Amino acid sequence: MTLPHFIYHPDPVGSGSVQPSSATCVSCNQARGYIYVGPVYAIDEYENCICPWCIADGSAHQRLGATFVDDESIGLDGEETLSEAQIAEVSQRTPGFNGWQQECWITHCDDAAEFVGKAGHAELLELGPAAIAAVQDSTGLEDGPQWRAFFNALDKDQGPTAYLFKCRHCATLGAYQDSR
Ligand SMILES: [Zn+2]
Ligand SMILES: [Zn+2]
Repeated sequence: MTLPHFIYHPDPVGSGSVQPSSATCVSCNQARGYIYVGPVYAIDEYENCICPWCIADGSAHQRLGATFVDDESIGLDGEETLSEAQIAEVSQRTPGFNGWQQECWITHCDDAAEFVGKAGHAELLELGPAAIAAVQDSTGLEDGPQWRAFFNALDKDQGPTAYLFKCRHCATLGAYQDSR
């Protein structure tokens, strides 16, 4: 079965927000082979029990009153103005991700950016200089021992962790980082 396409989160399996699972979805009552394991904002608790199809078509939002990205976290980084439709698409129909602190969804070119994934030192080396520069920029640190120590300490699973985004229009990479 092909996973639905999320324009703001193109590889939710790669980013770890969606996992292969035999769990039954509480929204459609089907075990479809994948389950969402990211944050769910709702009155009731929905941990690891919503399938990505019900996120993509908005039915999980409608049936459960759930959102998957805190709408307050979208565009915390800058002055971009997003439409209500863009914010609804990200918060109601896009898989979120778990950070150590309040998550932030990066924006660029008057749109939400696509979430690429979490990264530590090793992942950033693989992603290349533009990704490293985006993370360094988000720290405000100049080249020097302080930046090098922080860069070396970045870890996808332990923190501090970097979160990478890519603009859907101009492909500029954006990032932020946090730690426990
Ligand atoms: Zn479902
Ligand atoms: Zn852009």
